[in-house]
Amino acid sequence: MDTTRARKMIEAIAHRVIAHADELTLLDQAIGDGDHGVNMKRGFEAVLADLDTLAAGDVGALFNGVGRTLVMKVGGASGPLYGTLFMQLGKGWPAELNAQTLQTTCRAAVDAVAARGKSQQGQKTMLDVLFPVCNRLTTGADRAALRAHAATSAQATIALEATRGRASFLKERSIGHMDPGARSASLLVQAVCNVFNEA
Ligand code: ADP
Ligand code: MG
Repeated sequence: MDTTRARKMIEAIAHRVIAHADELTLLDQAIGDGDHGVNMKRGFEAVLADLDTLAAGDVGALFNGVGRTLVMKVGGASGPLYGTLFMQLGKGWPAELNAQTLQTTCRAAVDAVAARGKSQQGQKTMLDVLFPVCNRLTTGADRAALRAHAATSAQATIALEATRGRASFLKERSIGHMDPGARSASLLVQAVCNVFNEA
């Protein structure tokens, strides 16, 4: 993958997240403090504004720069976590991209998010989308299936009780609502799949 394609991917993610900001805010109003949409929109608008500079080098540098911008601009719990995701993708981006190196690189990035958040799958967070999607990135993973898997995984957080993040303050009252970070993670995956589909 060259920088032009990676840049298209980042643009697709940014536009999709920004278009769904109100939905993310509504989800965060139900079980958080209602800022997830605003946080993500601010971060990805900054990414779009800086894209010429961010995309001046190779793919690794682009992802790393996107991560640093998200850390600085998103704020909240999700800023450092999405920042870590992209910075680790940037650091680990392989010289030769194939199904195996893609999976290994994505897995390392999601592991870095879990380490940063001191969290794991099953706690009603973005990780409940990122881990399942990562596990599906096996040889020839079909994009449509991956997109559907992201949506299903986000839906599955409705039934979970939050044990990490702000929603965990609600204990069992967090059940019955989709996690906002799981939803934003699914938007991210879906945007990436759409760009790959254009291949
Ligand atoms: P804040 O919770 O500080 O208001 P946001 O609203 O922007 O930040 O983001 C909330 C989302 O961040 C949650 O829905 C959840 O998916 C994710 N999140 C919060 N804490 C963690 C954590 N420790 N590990 C993984 N994800 C987390
Ligand atoms: Mg919030």
